[in-house]
Amino acid sequence: MAEGRLDPKDWQGFRAQAHRMLDAALDKMEAAGDGPVWTPMPDDRKAALQGPLPHEGQGAAAVVDHLQALMPYGVGNTHPRFWGWVHGAGSPGNILPEMAAAAINANLGGRDHGGIYVERAVVRWCAQSMGLPESASGLIVSGTSMATIIALKCARDQALGAQVRREGVGAVRLVGYCSEQAHSCVARAFDMLGLGSDALRRIPVDAQFRMKPAALTDAIAADRAAGFAPFLVVGTAGAVNTGAIDPLSDLAGIAAQEGLWFHVDGAFGATARLSPALAPLLTGMEKADSLAFDFHKWLQVTYDAGCVLIRDPSTHLAAFSERPDYLAPATRGLAAGDVWPVDYGPELSRSYRALKVYAHLIEHGTDALGAVIAENCRQARLLEALVQAAPDLEALCPVALNILCFRFTGGPVAHYDALNAEVALRLQESGLAVLSTTKINGRLALRVNITNHRTRDSDLELLVTEVQKIGAALLQEGVDGQTP
Ligand SMILES: *Cc1c(COP(=O)(O)O)cnc(C)c1O
Repeated sequence: MAEGRLDPKDWQGFRAQAHRMLDAALDKMEAAGDGPVWTPMPDDRKAALQGPLPHEGQGAAAVVDHLQALMPYGVGNTHPRFWGWVHGAGSPGNILPEMAAAAINANLGGRDHGGIYVERAVVRWCAQSMGLPESASGLIVSGTSMATIIALKCARDQALGAQVRREGVGAVRLVGYCSEQAHSCVARAFDMLGLGSDALRRIPVDAQFRMKPAALTDAIAADRAAGFAPFLVVGTAGAVNTGAIDPLSDLAGIAAQEGLWFHVDGAFGATARLSPALAPLLTGMEKADSLAFDFHKWLQVTYDAGCVLIRDPSTHLAAFSERPDYLAPATRGLAAGDVWPVDYGPELSRSYRALKVYAHLIEHGTDALGAVIAENCRQARLLEALVQAAPDLEALCPVALNILCFRFTGGPVAHYDALNAEVALRLQESGLAVLSTTKINGRLALRVNITNHRTRDSDLELLVTEVQKIGAALLQEGVDGQTP
């Protein structure tokens, strides 16, 4: 029996507490559709977290009590009527690898152990399923934001040469391109890589919110004429506002012709490739020099887990590999097993995140995961039809994948924005449903994103009637959220 200073004195008792915790976790998942979607944390619970640093431990039984007390206060994304932002709903199976990973406690920065091989297997599966060569390199990371930073660093270093890693970006005027609808993580990566977010040019979109290829070509020409150095085109496969997919083949062609790196942000949309019916929408993605996407969104893996894939592993290595003496590679022993994840990214110590992705793929298989995605897309079109059939609702964007933006249209037009903002808040605060808001062509929209394997059609029917009910009540009350 392990008898370290922090091991249980009473393993039998600890085991009982661990089982109690497991049951509580399973209870929560089994009842994922019960109760309010969002349960805000009450003030007394927030106050309890203002307590002092514990000097004396309370033991495992107390921990289980504390954890159980916290369990109701999540974002709500495990609930069938959560459609805010882009959140995956998770799945009970993920509890198992999370337990196994905690027990193994491996550091996935490198060395020769099982986790390294599991992560490589997951990366290889990802390259395969996304249409990149199996030889592509990659990492399982915290999410698309981190994946984007890693991918764009590869692009930057290839453009500037290896000395940029020592000398910094200096006075070069690198510029890159994405659509007006691209996610803010792209600009964030420009900022963090020392390029400045102004160096990211926002290319106009068409009526379906997809980047206009001709506008991209014009922008590149204008920048070259003005002495800038274009290096990157970012295509979005599933834009966060509307689900729009840029014309990826066209963008890949322009990037190739202009000698630019082609990166695809496929945070949620890329995974639609697992559905044979939807895969054609993503044609061109397979030409990417790098791809970023998430497991924790449409693939329903628990937070957090995303992936970066780099077509050319030597470019990837050139951007990150640089080991100090104490991490020197070996041919035998625990320090063998080149190449390590640390050679492909900024983190040395890393969690065994790959394990839950590996387990998830084994448990469900890509066919079932693709079917969830196709089902959500069908549901978005169903919602669109319901909205179109309602006289007091109006769709604000066409459904490209799984997102519908719409609004309630009662009362004076000038009040629509405030009215709809209040509808979204009341839905959230009532616990009935969670959707988020965004601006579509300057108008405030109720945004329903369905990346949820628990949503049933009846949930969407309920949403429509509730929005109408709340909207009508607000008109009655003369409330539009702004006027006193
Ligand atoms: C969610 C999202 C991101 C950011 O991904 P994280 O996993 O939250 O870091 C980037 N791009 C798009 C299109 C997204 O939907």
